[in-house]
Amino acid sequence: MGTATSRTPGRALAALRRRALRRLGRDDAFAGRLRRTEERLETIVAGAPGIIYISELGPRGRWRYVSPRIEEMLGFTASEWTAEPDLWIRQLHPGDRDAVVAEKEELASHTTGELHESEYRLLTRSGDCRWIRDAATIVAADDGTLVWSGVLNDITERRAVEEELKASEDRFRTVVETASDAFVSMDANGLIVEWNRMAEETFGWRRDEAIGLPVADTIVPERYRPSHLRGFETFLRTGHGPALGRTLELSAVTRDGVEFPVELSIWESASQGVQRINAFLRDITERKELAAVTHQAFHDALTNLPNRVLFTDRVAQALARRPAPAAPSVAVLLLDLDDFKTVNDSLGHAAGDQLLVEVATRLASCVRPGDTLARLAGDEFSVLLEGIEDLNEVTRVARRIGERLEKPFEIEAMEVVVRASIGIAVGRHAEVRPEEMMRDADVAMYAAKARGKGEFELFQPQMRHAVVTRMELKGDLRRALDRDELRVHYQPYVLLDGGRVVGAEALVRWEHPERGLIPPLDFIPLAEEMGLIVPIGRWVLHEACGRAVEWTRRFPELGPLTFSVNVSARQLQDGSFVDDVATVVAQHDLEPKQLVLELTESCLVEDPDNAVKRLRELNDLGVSLAIDDFGTGYSSLSYLQRYPIEILKVHRSFVSALGRSADESSMTRAILQLAENLGMATIAEGVDEPAQVAALLELGCVYAQGFHFSRPLPHDAFAALLEREAALARAVPPSVVTFRRAAG
Ligand code: C2E
Ligand code: MG
Ligand code: MG
Repeated sequence: MGTATSRTPGRALAALRRRALRRLGRDDAFAGRLRRTEERLETIVAGAPGIIYISELGPRGRWRYVSPRIEEMLGFTASEWTAEPDLWIRQLHPGDRDAVVAEKEELASHTTGELHESEYRLLTRSGDCRWIRDAATIVAADDGTLVWSGVLNDITERRAVEEELKASEDRFRTVVETASDAFVSMDANGLIVEWNRMAEETFGWRRDEAIGLPVADTIVPERYRPSHLRGFETFLRTGHGPALGRTLELSAVTRDGVEFPVELSIWESASQGVQRINAFLRDITERKELAAVTHQAFHDALTNLPNRVLFTDRVAQALARRPAPAAPSVAVLLLDLDDFKTVNDSLGHAAGDQLLVEVATRLASCVRPGDTLARLAGDEFSVLLEGIEDLNEVTRVARRIGERLEKPFEIEAMEVVVRASIGIAVGRHAEVRPEEMMRDADVAMYAAKARGKGEFELFQPQMRHAVVTRMELKGDLRRALDRDELRVHYQPYVLLDGGRVVGAEALVRWEHPERGLIPPLDFIPLAEEMGLIVPIGRWVLHEACGRAVEWTRRFPELGPLTFSVNVSARQLQDGSFVDDVATVVAQHDLEPKQLVLELTESCLVEDPDNAVKRLRELNDLGVSLAIDDFGTGYSSLSYLQRYPIEILKVHRSFVSALGRSADESSMTRAILQLAENLGMATIAEGVDEPAQVAALLELGCVYAQGFHFSRPLPHDAFAALLEREAALARAVPPSVVTFRRAAG
């Protein structure tokens, strides 16, 4: 290796020429042609973009020839390159050297004519690295030895592009594979071409299973497939699609057929003429659930209105937004339905719910879009008004609410009338807190209720006093029984015809050490709220039965008087009520027929099956049952027929209507008629004028109770009344006194 001959094509060609001339003789014409051919060949070699070479086989084979371009490419001259066979090995990039040398070694045994290509790096004289593509064939040289005849091309730039491409592809892969979203690509046939790890996890198909499947059959729920395919077809036809370039929320389906919500962003890509539609899909089940839970936490499930938490927050925000720190521009209206409990108790909870929903709808029509309407609890709604300039705006809203609620609601084919009491609080000072405003509105609402149904009140600081009183009363009530502060007064009921006493209603009072005698309506509702009505009711029953026995013995000439005791719904629901009654009656050895239990209509319609059972049991004990305040509740005929009730107490509003107008007395007449048809006795309540006595007698009513005959009296006063009655009876002995039919 390493002789200086044949180093350039020029010299090699000259030798060739000499040999040819020797063979052909001195033929000038041929020589000329030959020279021209040589020149052309030299031009081609010099102009070729690569380095043309001839080298002996094996990694250390002698380079017989390299074209001049080597200088431009590697910085070595052709003669330097051919002079030193190891130079090539030295200039091989250390990273490629061993592999290239080994390959050359192996290829040395290959056959002629085959093209071998390899790519490796060579270092230039100045140390720069060039990527070389080596394409060579083993050929036989003139001297019969086998040599490599090849071309070295500089492919550095192409490699750079390729590497960049590969790097970018790698980056893409990394992004796609590590993405927390599923990545799915499809081609123009709708077949899956990309499917990342997250897609495997999300949809349950492995990558190798998913690739090649139609997207439509894989992740699109069956019911959405037609619209999916339509959209895809439109896209293919027009290049536009409704979903393209957007983030959407759709349903997807897993391999197991489980549908779930996804957030989807779709974009189109085209690379080397291949069109693709790509999508990132994110399972948003949890997000949706969280959103639902959050919504639930801040909204009322029945009406979907904001709840107390959200409302309080809105009030706080509104207060913070006030134009001036103390501007009275924020108002809270608190609204409580006056008759809701009756509706709920008498028509059932489903009807109550329906009513609440309809009330919510009507209320919504009373406020502006920016105002907040909320449901705070059961039948309690609230409205937040902002940007108020004039208090009249607030009262106008309150009035409007009152008016809108006036029209009866149709619930289960019944007309239901609802009114609301409204309390209003206006944020007046800088530090006012939302809780304070709501509490003030609540206080004002109680004040409104106290004034009557369907009223509204603006909060005044002195109203707080009433609330404090109520709280104090509750505290005191707890101890009232133990401290023996309760009293029972007795109000007689009489035969309308003649006015003879036939019985009395026991009415409880509370003799408060500081406040004096408190009427039942001021504390019975508190006792009901606190559950204290059960022991209080038991005590009243005990007291009344004791007196009944006492007076019956003392005044035999009055015959067996009946004694009525009021029973709250809450008592009737108490599991031990029937036993309590039985025990008390037995304890006093009272004739059961002498005891009348007065129930309100709401007692009967709330949990009617249970009520029927209880009333039958009471009836079996032998006690009589009466419906109190008849006409004010929602009981229907069917209820009345179902229950073993003997007495109907006509509410005093019907009695006071008597004589006012024909229309109003006709209602009283109808009630009395109804009672007669049902075989019930009637007691007219609240008779306080002689004219009413006459009117009732004319309508066929038999019994009455009211201030006209006697106010409710303490037991000693009542005993005195009986004393007088007994004296009268001794003069005119009574006929048998039991309840008779209304129009007997
Ligand atoms: P009620 O059972 O309808 O009792 C009749 C009420 O009407 C009594 O009021 C009585 O004083 C009043 N009244 C009687 N005659 C007249 C009249 O001519 N004109 C007017 N304006 N009123 C008259 P009171 O004693 O204040 O009782 C109110 C309600 O308190 C009772 O209505 C009853 O529902 C309830 N209540 C009273 N005591 C008890 C009790 O021991 N237990 C239960 N659960 N409730 C009771
Ligand atoms: Mg009563
Ligand atoms: Mg009554």
